[in-house]
Amino acid sequence: MDIELYKKLVNMNAVSGHERVVRKLMKEELEKAGADEILKDKLGSIVGLSKGTGPKIMFVGHMDEVGFMVSNISDNGFIRIIPVGGIKPETYVSQNMNIVVSDDKVIRGIIGSIPPHISKEPKAMSIDDLVLDIGADSKEHALSMGVRVGQQVVSVNEFYFTEDNKKIVSKAWDNRFGCGLAIEVMRYACSHKHPNNIYCGATVQEEVGSRGAITLSNMIEPDLFLAFDVTTATDCMPQNPKTSSALGEGFIVRFMDPGCIMKPEFKDYLINLAEKNNIKYQLYAPNGSTDASKGQFAGSGAISTCLAICGRYIHSTATMIHVDDMEAVYRIACAIVDDMDDEKFKKLLEE
Ligand SMILES: [Zn+2]
Repeated sequence: MDIELYKKLVNMNAVSGHERVVRKLMKEELEKAGADEILKDKLGSIVGLSKGTGPKIMFVGHMDEVGFMVSNISDNGFIRIIPVGGIKPETYVSQNMNIVVSDDKVIRGIIGSIPPHISKEPKAMSIDDLVLDIGADSKEHALSMGVRVGQQVVSVNEFYFTEDNKKIVSKAWDNRFGCGLAIEVMRYACSHKHPNNIYCGATVQEEVGSRGAITLSNMIEPDLFLAFDVTTATDCMPQNPKTSSALGEGFIVRFMDPGCIMKPEFKDYLINLAEKNNIKYQLYAPNGSTDASKGQFAGSGAISTCLAICGRYIHSTATMIHVDDMEAVYRIACAIVDDMDDEKFKKLLEE
């Protein structure tokens, strides 16, 4: 895997609606990979195409990450923030955050917590309790630093490998991982002849309801829509969940989630292909939806699912993923590029 590419991607700041910098890199990398064409929709999603004769297969990550936006600056210089995407307030207390004031400048601050010495009875936290402190003494002081209402607020990143060199911790694995993977699969598709029309790229605004997946998939009308994403790992949970996923156990066959049920014929195809190629996989039914929930409605419908890896502590300031899982999902995507064709696709539709 091209770890440097992933590192570059996770270090970028792009909460939903602010994907421009990631899109620029996606475009450059898809071009470099040798895409025959680059296509963008008007909402900001982007894909490259490697031409073939068979079905349209679309592999897409999403460029956005969860975070906040500046909603108000108080007279005494504190920054009020509103969440973008699914956020649990407790996760962000005492965390360092960056306000993105321009493409090359961020302002660091900390989300305040009330020390035990002065806190009252414990109560459930709300998002409204989160206040960002950048050390500004007044509203004017904050404004003079370049802070404005509407700017994005993102986690500070500390990318590192764990001691065993098998896991990587970073912000924004959900879902710069999918962006990097789409680039790597585009490189693979462009490197040789294959029987399909392969689209690789990334959507915008997944974390606020897969908005970019709607527009992009409607523009392309794929036969097969495959979202790349990072889903919840349950191996770090103390309680025993009904359905489980664990780091290092392979890519996720998401046979069902609240927004998408995998077509059984495709599930069988995927599992057979993984077994034929000795690729580790795990069956899991997560609680959240992905772009696959919207991609399935493209045109008269697409066979749709999410090819995921699991990550611990997603939607927080840092997520841990496993390099073997990265490899597994890359290998299954490449296997699909070479193995799928017109005939096999038609078979998936036969009842
Ligand atoms: Zn995601």
